[in-house]
Order: sequence, then C-alpha cells, then structure tokens
Amino acid sequence: MQERLKEIEDRFKQELSEVSSLKELKDLKVRYLGKKGSISQLARQLGKIPPEDRPAMGEAINRLKRLAEEEIKASESRVKEIEERTALEREALDITLPGRPPSVGSLHPITLVMEEIEKIFVSFGFQVAEGPEIEVDYYNFEALNIPLDHPARDMQDTFYISEELLLRTHTSPVQMRIMEKYTPPIRIIAPGKVYRCDADVSHTPMFHQVEGLMVGDDVTFTQLKGLLEEFARRIFGETKVRFRPSFFPFTEPSAEMDIGCVICKGKGCRVCGHSGWLEILGCGMVDPALYRYAGSAYDPEKITGFAFGLGVERIAMLKYGINDIRLFYENDLGFLGQFAYER
Ligand SMILES: [Zn+2]
Repeated sequence: MQERLKEIEDRFKQELSEVSSLKELKDLKVRYLGKKGSISQLARQLGKIPPEDRPAMGEAINRLKRLAEEEIKASESRVKEIEERTALEREALDITLPGRPPSVGSLHPITLVMEEIEKIFVSFGFQVAEGPEIEVDYYNFEALNIPLDHPARDMQDTFYISEELLLRTHTSPVQMRIMEKYTPPIRIIAPGKVYRCDADVSHTPMFHQVEGLMVGDDVTFTQLKGLLEEFARRIFGETKVRFRPSFFPFTEPSAEMDIGCVICKGKGCRVCGHSGWLEILGCGMVDPALYRYAGSAYDPEKITGFAFGLGVERIAMLKYGINDIRLFYENDLGFLGQFAYER
C-alpha cells in the first residue's frame, strides 16, 4: 500500500506539471480527489490492512490529499496565465502585413457630366431649377404647344400613370412652371430624369436631360448660338459647331446643334454615320404662343427668349467614348470605377 501511495503521488505530480488549461486542472482534481478519485479509493482500502498499520497509513493518505489540494490551488494562477498567453498568441495581429486599402466610391459618370454641365451654365449666370418627375399632361404637353391631337405626342412614347398624370418625357415642363412663378428676366437650367418607353443600344426607359431657358428684353438667337458654342467648347474642348434648322412644337425658329465628331475628328466614322458631325442638342427661340400660358408678365410683343435641351447620356457617351447607353445602368463596378472622383 505504501508503494501504491508513492506511485499515485508521483503520477499526480507528473500530470499536474503537464496541465495547461483550467479545464484540464478541473479534470485532474476529479481524477485524484473526486469520490471515485485515486486518493479517495486508496483511503477506502484502509480497512483491508492490519489495524496497527492503519493510523500511519491514514496519516500518509491525508498528507497526500492535502498536498494534492494545495498544489492544485497553487497551480490555478499559473494555468490561467498559460491560457491567457495562448489566447493572445492565437489572436495576435501581424502588424507587418500590408494594410487593406478601404475602397473609395466614385461618382457615376452621368452625375459627373451633369455636374460639369451645371457648373458651366452657372458660370454663364444661369440658376438651377427643378420640377416634378411625375407631371400633369398640361405642363408636359399642352402648355408646350402640344395639344391632344398634335402629332408630336406620337414622337414621344409616354408612360401614363392615369389619364392626367404621366412620367415627364422631357425636362421642358420646368420652363412653364418657372415662368408661371417668376417674372422675366429668367435664366435657368433644369437638369433631371425623364422617361420614355423605349430601350435599345441608344435608348433607356429613364435618362437625363438638361433644359435651358432664358427670357427677357432683347434675347436673341445670336446669344443662344454664342452660349451653346462656348458650352460645347468647355465640354468637348476645341471643336467645330454647326446649327441646322429643325422643328420643335415649343420653339420657333428651331435648330439642332452639331459638333465635329469627337471620335474621327470630322473624317467620318460609324459613330457619326460618316458625316463627320454629331448632333448634341436641340434649341430655338421660345414660340410666342407659349407666353400666353405664362401669364401677363410675359408680353410676346415686348420679350423674347430661347430654350434648349440636351441629353446627358449622349454627351457622356461622346465625352468618354462609350458605345452602349445601357452600360450606365448595369451597375458594373468595373465600368463605373473608371470614372475618377474629382471635384
Ligand atoms: Zn465620326
């Protein structure tokens, strides 16, 4: 029995020195001091040895028991330290690794071009105006000289919400809303979203326009030409410009402005239909008939004005050399990320 005691003590010391977690320490305690633990079992066998040996043996077992208890207690802080150190090592940060740069967003190319257009016209003394995207028939058509039976209504595939309400097909309704509210002189641009139900390589159901309107004493077509020529130069750099007569229900006379093809520099290519010219906007003198919708402050005998409208997507496509308008709205980060964020 003496030998058995010695054996248990040695094994206990060995195992204790190998413990590396509080869980293992707890298990060890159960294994030696628990009800079925080796030391407790040894104590239960005291009855089997000769009575005269019992006190000494009992004493020895108790000593071992106390020793085990004390040593386990004393090991707690050491084991805790080991546990903490391993946890720290596991979660350690390698500060020599290169950092991951945060991804910085970029502005959408349409936003960039819109902001650029706004900046140019603001520098010309224009103010930025807004109007609703859900528009009433009156502002979208009627007050722009497009009555119900007018063929121009067929030119624009309109999204109707009800008989009266529609998604505006152009930014031109803002013209009348502004003239109703303010007396001349007026100098505004109205950038925004417009809607038409068609979609192909060069059309999307939603796109952006910028409308311009200048009304006052002696506003002339010459001023309009000078203004738009300067605008084209600031957007596209040095370029040729030409005006061709055109038709819009709300301007008279009307014109379309072309710039020298930015792709082939006027030599002729697929984009410009081998003409060397690209149409970029429509414009004209405000049809005097419109002023009767605008109120008494607008006397067609005394005031004149011009208006223009341009497609932002078209300008962005030409500026950045993009051949499919749908790329703007596919949310492909590889595409969108190419446009630098600059202010
Ligand atoms: Zn060309």
